[in-house]
This record gives sequence, C-alpha cells and structure tokens, in this order.
Amino acid sequence: MINRRKFIEKFAAAGALSMLPNFIRSQETTNLSSPVYKNLPVIISTWNHGIEANEAAIQVLKNGGSIVDAVEQGVWIPEADPKNVSVGLGGYPDREGYVTLDASIMGPDGNAGSVCFLENIMHPISVARLVMDSTPHVMLSGEGALQFALENGFKKENLLTPSSKTFWKNKMKETGYDPQPNWENEPNSYHDTIGLLGVDTSGNIAGACTTSGLGFKMRGRVGDSPIIGAGLFVDNEVGAATATGMGELVMKTVGSFLVVELMRNGKTPQQAVEEAVLRIVKKVPDHKKYQIGFIAVNKQGETGAYCLLPGFNYALHQENQNILIDSKSYYK
Ligand code: ASP
Repeated sequence: MINRRKFIEKFAAAGALSMLPNFIRSQETTNLSSPVYKNLPVIISTWNHGIEANEAAIQVLKNGGSIVDAVEQGVWIPEADPKNVSVGLGGYPDREGYVTLDASIMGPDGNAGSVCFLENIMHPISVARLVMDSTPHVMLSGEGALQFALENGFKKENLLTPSSKTFWKNKMKETGYDPQPNWENEPNSYHDTIGLLGVDTSGNIAGACTTSGLGFKMRGRVGDSPIIGAGLFVDNEVGAATATGMGELVMKTVGSFLVVELMRNGKTPQQAVEEAVLRIVKKVPDHKKYQIGFIAVNKQGETGAYCLLPGFNYALHQENQNILIDSKSYYK
C-alpha cells in the first residue's frame, strides 16, 4: 500500500503538487512528518450550551492541552451547570426520581471509555476517561462505575436540584410516566445531550458525549450516548461523529459509526450525516415522533450537521469564531 509520504513524494516528483487537496498540499513547504491542516483547530458541539463548551475546549488547546483534554474539559461546562436539565448536575431524573448519567469519550489512538447508569458523580465524562486511560475495559455501568469513581477520588454528590425535582414531581402528577415524549409540544425539555468533537492543528481527532439521558425514562434505561459507535465514534484516519435526541433510534442504526464509515468511503461530513438520518427514516417506522441530530467533522476540518425535525442547533468554533448554527432538517 502506498503511504502518505510516498504519495506526496511521488506527486512532487511528477510536478503535480498543485493537483493535491489543500490539506495535503500545505505539507509541501513543511516537514512531511508533521502535516499542517487548514481550518484547524475545529471544535463542534451540540445545542446552545455548545458555545461555552467549545470556548473551554479551545482554551485547553491554547494552553497546550491535548485534543482529549480539550473535549473532556469542554463538556465539563454543561455537566456542572445546574440549569442544564439534560446533562450532569440538574439533569432530569428517571421516572423514580434518580438522576442517572451516560458518557463516552474517544481519542485519536482509537482508545475509548464510557460509563452508563452512573449516579451521583458530577463529571461522568472524566470517569469515562479514566476507564479509557487506566483500565483494559471500555464500559463500566451502574454500581461498578460508581465504585470505580469513588475509589479514584471522585466525590459523591446529589445531582437532583430542587427545580428539577419539582419539575419531575409535577410531571409525574400530570402525565404519569410518559414513555413517548411528544417532541413537538416540548421541543427543548428532554434532549440536550452534549456531544463535542475536536480536531487539533495536527489533525488529531477526539470526541466526548455526556448526558443524563431521556428525562423521566424507565429506571435502568441506557441511551445511545455511552455506546461507542452509536452516540459517539472517532477514527483518527477519517473523522468523528456524535448524536443527540431519542437514543433508541441511533442505537438501532449504529448512527455515529455509520457516519464515520460513510466519510471513510468518500462522503463529506454533510452528506454522511444526511445519509445517517435517512437510514433512520427508512428503518425506524415510528421515527416521526422523535428528534435526532448528528454532527460530524472530518480530518480536514470540514463539518456537517443534520436532524430529523426542525429545532436542532449546534456550535462551531473554527477560524477564531464561535457561532451557533441552526441545523438543516429532514422534515420541514
Ligand atoms: N441521546 C440521549 C439519550 O437518548 C438523549 C439526548 O440527546 O438528550 O439518552
């Protein structure tokens, strides 16, 4: 197989460097072993809270942190925000009143860590990172994940804020358990997972995804966010993707892995996320009731976003700008 260096040398010898894509051509004047990519770094993340998370992630890179540090510390912001009702502290509880957390992280070396059904820990993403960095496993769940966190210095905290508790009590009184939330009537209540993807100036890619999951879910329910390949996937040769919304639809189609594989096969990030949403439309009969959103980035720093229903937005930090963008949707 022809490697990257040989490929570039062959092109240079043939006087054909101008035919190369920009991100490769930029290596022409630099050391071939340390490629320089255009439009990098890039940080992209889901929903309004992505703006602050992106800012934090970029600061980590500016201070010399790694891309894994950046994605982890970026999502610390919504995890610690008591006003955010879908992530960490303040997250809406399950139907029994317990806040249960799911999180996953992947780095450029292909390593992955996740936790699911974890309670009482403000930063599940950091427990997921510790699973990745210090154990031979990928996922720890429930009591075992909590024990692992406590043994490693994490503090047990009550994450159910008074306002989320009141909301849960009223909700249960009004509707009882609602297994099929009506996204049209309550568009911003239940689906604010943060998925955050980053590519550093060397083209190294990482991603993090963290959530308290679907509000008022059945006790024990785990969504897509901690499932590697569903809620998050990173391949350092290609790019990364993450998802938000009704996790069951993403799990049934292994959405984030699908997006990355489509990019591997030549799709742009935008084409890839659109095809992943189309897959859900084709394969999941009752998909119209639910929201799903994907974001993606490739190694060259190109991005994409797409969702089922109108209403999903994402934050993009690129070329020193951090902006909120409304995603295009399958249904208008
Ligand atoms: N994807 C998450 C889940 O199903 C929900 C969300 O995006 O907030 O648990």
